[in-house]
Amino acid sequence: MYAQPSGGLEGTPRGEEAQALLRNCVHCGFCLPACPTYRITGNELDSPRGRIYLIKQVVEGAEATATTRHHLDRCLTCRACETACPSGVEYGRLIDLGRALVEERAPRPPLERSLRRGLTAVLSRPALFGPLVRLGQAVRGWLPAGLRARVPPREVAGTVVPQTQTARRVVLLEGCVQPGLRPAINLAATRVLERIGVGVQRLDGEQCCGALGHHLGQAESAHEQMRRNVEACCTALDAGAEAIVSAASACGLMVKDYGRLLAHDPEYAARARRVSEATRDLAELVAPADLERASHGRGPRVAWQAPCTLQHGQRMVGRVEALLAAAGCELTATREAKLCCGSAGTYSLLQPELSGELRRRKLDALLFDAPEVIATANIGCLEHLRGASPVPVRHWVEIVAERLERAD
Ligand code: SF4
Ligand code: SF4
Repeated sequence: MYAQPSGGLEGTPRGEEAQALLRNCVHCGFCLPACPTYRITGNELDSPRGRIYLIKQVVEGAEATATTRHHLDRCLTCRACETACPSGVEYGRLIDLGRALVEERAPRPPLERSLRRGLTAVLSRPALFGPLVRLGQAVRGWLPAGLRARVPPREVAGTVVPQTQTARRVVLLEGCVQPGLRPAINLAATRVLERIGVGVQRLDGEQCCGALGHHLGQAESAHEQMRRNVEACCTALDAGAEAIVSAASACGLMVKDYGRLLAHDPEYAARARRVSEATRDLAELVAPADLERASHGRGPRVAWQAPCTLQHGQRMVGRVEALLAAAGCELTATREAKLCCGSAGTYSLLQPELSGELRRRKLDALLFDAPEVIATANIGCLEHLRGASPVPVRHWVEIVAERLERAD
C-alpha cells in the first residue's frame, strides 16, 4: 500500500516510518478472519485492513475524525493479524503510530481525556491501587454483581523462604496491578525460580512498564516511566543480575520493546536496547527438565489460555504447555487458541460490550473439554476470565509451584 505522507509528516522520521510500515500491506485480507473485532461486527473498518486504510488516510493528510478514532479505539492490539499476515505487516507498530497521530489531530472531549488519565493514574500506582482492591474486597459481598465480578476474593498469598546460596540471580518485575490483585503469583514465581537455583531480587524504584499509558495515547508519561525503569534495570544488570523477568506477558512484551520505543532518545537508546535484550518471560527461565520431580501423580486437568501478548507479541507458542505437561498436568483440548479473550489492558473497561462478547466466546472455547482449572500467563487475561468463569483461573506458575512443593 503506497502512502504519500502529508500534513506536516513529509520528510519526517515519523512520516518515513509510516510509509515503510504501510508499504508491506498488499490488501489481501488474509488477516480479516483472525481479527476478533471484525468477527463480531463484520464491519471492514473494524478489521486490520480497514484500520490500516484509515491510518493511511490520516498519514496522507486527511482529517482525523471521531469515527476514525472510534474504529482505532476498538482495536484490541492483540496482534493476531500480524501472525496471520503473509506479508509481514507490523500492525502493532502501525496502530501505535496511527493512534498517536489521531490523538494529536482529533483530541478527545475533556471528560474522556480525564477518564483515561485517571485510569492510568490509578492502575499504574500499586500504592494507590492495592488499598483500593483491599477496600473492594472488604465490601465485596455488598457490591453490585457487575462490580463484584471485577474484585477478586482475598487470597492467602503464602510466603517465600529466600535461598542464600544461588549462583544465578534475576530481577523479577512486580508489575502494577498484579501485587494488589493476585499477590500469590509473584510469590509462586519466586518459589519456583529459587527451587531451580535462580535467586530473585526486586527492582529498586520499579515504575509501571509504560504499557497502560502507551496504549492510551499518553506517550510522554509512558516514555518517562520507561526511562526510569531502564536506569533501574541497568543498575541491577551492572550489579550482576543475569536477566529482567516478568510473570505478566503484557509487561514483559513492553519491556522487550523498550529498545525500539526509545531508539530515538540519544541518552537512553543504547541502555534501553540492553534492557530489552536482557528481558525474559518467566517461562523462558524454566525448562521442562527442571520440573521432572513434579511429574509423578495425577495433576489437574488444565485448559491453557495463551495471552495475545505471549503468542502474537512475544511469539512464544508451546513453551508453557510443555512446562505444565512436565509438571504432570493433563492439558485439555481447547478451541480458538488464537482468539483474544477481550481483556487487552483497559479495553475491558473502555469497550465493555465487545470485551464481554469475546470473553463469552473464549470461555466457551476453553471449557468445552471440562478442565478443572484454566491457566494463563497474564494478570489482565486472568482477572478478566475469572470474572465469568465457573472454574478457577490461575497463573501457570501457581500450578507448577504447587506441583513442585507437593513432590518435595
Ligand atoms: S493480511 Fe497483511 S497484507 Fe493482507 S490485508 Fe492484512 S495486513 Fe495487509
Ligand atoms: S490487533 Fe487484533 S483487534 Fe486489532 S486489528 Fe489486529 S487482529 Fe484486529
